[in-house]
Amino acid sequence: MSTSRTTSSAETELAGAEVAARLEPGDLVLVRGELGAGKTTFVRGACRELGVEGPVTSPTFTIGRRYKSAEGLAVAHLDLYRLADMGAEEAGLLDDYLTPGTFAFVEWPAVAALELPEPRVQVEIRHAGGDERELDVEWSDRTD
Ligand code: ADP
Ligand code: MG
Repeated sequence: MSTSRTTSSAETELAGAEVAARLEPGDLVLVRGELGAGKTTFVRGACRELGVEGPVTSPTFTIGRRYKSAEGLAVAHLDLYRLADMGAEEAGLLDDYLTPGTFAFVEWPAVAALELPEPRVQVEIRHAGGDERELDVEWSDRTD
């Protein structure tokens, strides 16, 4: 696991981009951290690196968004914070997002009573005073 510090949202976006550059289609990235830690900021940087051009904001009224990059890559961004209110027991809720070949980023994965696939990367972001953040990035060995 590697730990680093950022001092601006731009730096956290860069950290997301660095992770994204090493991903392969179908990889799942879990992003943990308190509200306002910078999870969505991290995912935005990752999405930009993958070629997603429009706004990347936390999904609010749905559990996720799906993006297509300019080159046609499929990217999913989920925020499971409100899943408890939305019928978490519903089977197949994530199936529209976690499709084969999709680069997937999931904020608040721990809230999901649903079983998520094995993540390729796990990220935790912590407040470190002001605009500083501490980021843990842990890669798993590819199992498939
Ligand atoms: P989360 O998704 O974890 O709730 P967001 O990424 O939506 O968090 O929001 C993080 C907020 O903190 C943004 O307003 C961002 O501009 C601000 N911020 C300040 N410093 C940083 C930093 N070093 N990294 C990430 N975000 C930062
Ligand atoms: Mg968020």
